[in-house]
Amino acid sequence: MKIRDILAKGEPTLSFEVFPPKTEDKYEPVEQAALEIAGLKPAFMSVTYGAGGGTSRYTVEIAAMLQAQGVTPLAHLTCVSSAREKVTSVLGELKARGIENVLALRGDIPADGQVEKDYHYASELIAEIQKSGDFCIGAACYPEGHVESENKLQDIHYLKEKVEAGCDFVTTQMFFDNNILYNYLYRIREAGVTVPVVAGIMPVTNKAQIKRICAMSGTYLPSRFKAIVDRFGDNPAAMKQAGIAYATEQIIDLIANGVNGIHVYSMNKPDVAARIRESLSEILS
Ligand code: FAD
Repeated sequence: MKIRDILAKGEPTLSFEVFPPKTEDKYEPVEQAALEIAGLKPAFMSVTYGAGGGTSRYTVEIAAMLQAQGVTPLAHLTCVSSAREKVTSVLGELKARGIENVLALRGDIPADGQVEKDYHYASELIAEIQKSGDFCIGAACYPEGHVESENKLQDIHYLKEKVEAGCDFVTTQMFFDNNILYNYLYRIREAGVTVPVVAGIMPVTNKAQIKRICAMSGTYLPSRFKAIVDRFGDNPAAMKQAGIAYATEQIIDLIANGVNGIHVYSMNKPDVAARIRESLSEILS
């Protein structure tokens, strides 16, 4: 099923993300985690694409496995390290496996600066996918602005280019203050971006994870959230419980305010996904 049709129903949806293994010996545990999360019957599940594209076959395999389980898969695809030939080949594999949804991304510029020259931005990849078949195409958006962008206005301008190139919906980078999303939604709607926006929520379950996240994406941490990390960061079980509760509260507030698409960065953790799903059992039914 196409994700644009799922979102068009206008009902609250919960979806989860998994990431593929880097090596063959890690494939089975990842597959098992994905299967367990699929058992929660999410609206769809996304499978990320490893930086560099060397593990693209795992992305396709896990997406195909989810499809076989009756869960709509969303396969990510990045272009910064992939030549046109590689993109064409991955799209061909997805098509052959009946996978209808692709999240089209540029990917992060590698530390050594080595990039392929066929695509410079996600909008070019989106245009290519649009030409190459009947895919539903998603893209990324950044409520706090992408780290490389000069300012938020410019970033929204480029987001609009992605939509004009053919993207059907966008998923946000994680955020920990819902007001940032509400403000962003106002700004992008004003700018004429009308596609559905799926809110990306990251349940932070350990202290190291939050340090990494902030270093990578510059995400703003509200003082309410910092207090949780300060108080519980050195107690893993308490941090996990508090992180899940914080994410759940964010989700409830979003749904209450009319943001229906919720995507949880579940990081291959079925227990975290299950606890969030359980806490929303009446809200999503
Ligand atoms: P783009 O939309 O191309 O934007 C990149 C930068 O270029 C931005 O600063 C933008 O403002 C600017 N820009 C865009 N168009 C132009 C233009 N025409 N001229 C000048 N500047 C321009 N990474 C992975 O490796 N694998 C994944 O599976 C993955 N999944 C993700 C899922 C989500 C929901 C999100 C939010 C991010 C994900 N990422 C993933 C990370 C992503 O690849 C990085 O954030 C990357 O740096 C930007 O990708 P993009 O598709 O947003 O790029």
